[in-house]
Amino acid sequence: MMKPLGLKFRLDELSHAARPFEGTLSAAALKADIAGLLGGLGYYAETDAILEGEAYRSANREVVLSGHFALSVGFQCARCLTRRALRVEEEKRYVLIRRAPQPEGEEEIVLSEALLNEPDEYDFDGEHVDLEGLFREEIILALPMNPTCEDVGEPPCQTRRAEADPLEEIDPRWAPLLEMKKKLSPS
Ligand SMILES: [Zn+2]
Repeated sequence: MMKPLGLKFRLDELSHAARPFEGTLSAAALKADIAGLLGGLGYYAETDAILEGEAYRSANREVVLSGHFALSVGFQCARCLTRRALRVEEEKRYVLIRRAPQPEGEEEIVLSEALLNEPDEYDFDGEHVDLEGLFREEIILALPMNPTCEDVGEPPCQTRRAEADPLEEIDPRWAPLLEMKKKLSPS
């Protein structure tokens, strides 16, 4: 069995037979990517992302790969602010296409979309493959924009604002005055 490649390799290390690759993205490395996604609240990586898949070199010197990633991220529900953990997992196919123009006379091969199940296309320089960048982007795309309790299989939640006692949201020094106002106002 062939030793798996890491996340960074050269096109020449691939042949026309599929070769496995594997790697991890540390929670620390992901932290910066995903921190700003939800405004002030943010996502936070709870685990490293585990990446694995298989890649081969097409006759047109493109990289065709199927890749799988899995990780857990934490977030605060956009509605009720409860802390939740979300498991993110995805398996997809990608084609890495040379950015540089084709040399003249070389025939362009059109990949069959049916065969590849409509893979996502990424660019590369034709020689160096860096799957770390690809997966970092894919992980960001896989995260819901406004995650709520429902995204992790919990029942629909209410906004905290609607449930909260109005006295909790104001400066506590005003509380006695508000209590007095309540007593004075006709009910
Ligand atoms: Zn919630």
